[in-house]
Amino acid sequence: PPHAIIIGAGIAGIAGAIRLAVQGFAVSVFEKNDYPGGKLSQLVNGDFYFDAGPSLFTQPHLVKEVFDLAGEKMEDHFSYTQVPVSCHYFYEDGTRLKAYADHDLFAKELNEKLGEEENKLSSYLNRSGRIYNDIGKVFLNHSLHKRSTAFQKSVFKALKATRFSYLFGTMHDMNASHFKNEKTVQLFDRYATYNGSNPYRAPGMLSLIPHVEHNEGVFYPKGGMISITNALISLAEKKGVKFYFGAAVQRIIFHDNKVHGIVVNDENIAADIVVSNMDVYFTYKHLLNREHSAHKVLKQERSSSALIFYWGMKKEFPQLGLHNIFFAKDYKAEFDHLFRLKKIYADPTVYINITSKCEPGMHAPEGKENWFVMVNAPANTGQDWQAYRNSYRETIIAKLNRILNDDIGKYIETEDVLDPVSVESKTGSYMGSLYGTSSNSRMAAFLRHPNFSKKIKGLYFVGGSVHPGGGIPLCLQSARIMGGLVQEDQKGKKH
Ligand code: FAD
Repeated sequence: PPHAIIIGAGIAGIAGAIRLAVQGFAVSVFEKNDYPGGKLSQLVNGDFYFDAGPSLFTQPHLVKEVFDLAGEKMEDHFSYTQVPVSCHYFYEDGTRLKAYADHDLFAKELNEKLGEEENKLSSYLNRSGRIYNDIGKVFLNHSLHKRSTAFQKSVFKALKATRFSYLFGTMHDMNASHFKNEKTVQLFDRYATYNGSNPYRAPGMLSLIPHVEHNEGVFYPKGGMISITNALISLAEKKGVKFYFGAAVQRIIFHDNKVHGIVVNDENIAADIVVSNMDVYFTYKHLLNREHSAHKVLKQERSSSALIFYWGMKKEFPQLGLHNIFFAKDYKAEFDHLFRLKKIYADPTVYINITSKCEPGMHAPEGKENWFVMVNAPANTGQDWQAYRNSYRETIIAKLNRILNDDIGKYIETEDVLDPVSVESKTGSYMGSLYGTSSNSRMAAFLRHPNFSKKIKGLYFVGGSVHPGGGIPLCLQSARIMGGLVQEDQKGKKH
């Protein structure tokens, strides 16, 4: 069979490997780290287990799609449940609310706590669903760079459904004109951060994101997020995919604009096609030696990064849930710091994820909790992260003490920290960005690098730094689009 090489065992690389194996390729995956998953991996500290990166699981059908395609039952490898409260919100003035999965309960909560009329939630989520289904899907499901008739037809339909404000208004303006309480606006503005963007600059179009969380649901994978990586790895191995860990690819070999293989451990390995799951910037810069193309990628603004504290806590906090948000008082100032000033902000929004809430005793000993504490941070441009770590630690503890009326610091039993520099060194994400490029510009969807190389035949791209973007669902979609492109190219070859 033809040989496909995948560079990187991130979620998109693994899903891409399975797809190509099903399509008849002999597939080899080379991964720089000695573990799989890239950002979607696990961190263990004593008796505490943490999901290292992503913590929010949406659109599980995209994982199932990979199992279905491979003719395997997902339930044999992987299971998940819907979460009844998608997030617990805390504001500095003492307001607390729960975003229930049940729309009626959530609408009631917004009415009682923030004075929103009850029908406001459903009209908002209905519009969000329309934007997702009529417009978003077209961009998420296709390669925008191949002009098939089906694609042209759906673009035409999508354009008809696009209102002026979706492109020319900001997400914040759209939310502010719908809800009356600024706390509700802040709650819905936060969805821009799901792909590392700024709600005060990102187009209204991004208000399709709440559809995914509130109309489709938030899910918890049994065993934590790491189970997604583990399940896909075992599926890939079952389909004959060979993984090589601790194997950093040094070069992509190409001649006459056609790919021939890779160099790894100073050895040449031949391949019919090569798929890079590595950040597209570093692929051009280091593996292809194409500075010019690397710089073209940089024209797009990078998504934000994060500073994360992994705290093993020797106490349980009944007022917290799986996902918790402690909002900044001045959200606009926070985003201004992240994207314009590229500095940390004195009163950041704090996110806490606690998987031991879903599986007590599994990820933390009885009576204790595993806290994944994250604040958004600017992408790395050489800031003094050691100093930032220290000041953020104090700021976060002070904020939580204020809002929870407790003395958090004394319960921290174990600690690890991840900053934008370690995101880059651990996963090869340029500047430590979490989601590749941001969606702050109206053209972002069109400017992301396509899932294939226009210049080098047989070279493809998957993952968060290319089309359609970052986050687990989009990464899985990039693998699907790549599989389709490879299939078309192989068919073309035979004719
Ligand atoms: P990556 O995970 O970026 O992996 C790329 C792999 O390539 C790495 O394993 C790397 O070691 C390897 N590699 C790099 N260079 C080489 C080389 N030369 N040779 C061989 N291998 C190489 N998404 C969500 O959906 N929900 C969330 O809640 C969420 N939260 C996040 C929180 C954090 C802190 C982070 C970091 C990300 C978060 N994301 C979230 C985003 C999500 O994790 C990513 O978009 C996704 O995991 C990226 O997958 P990927 O396939 O692009 O590969």
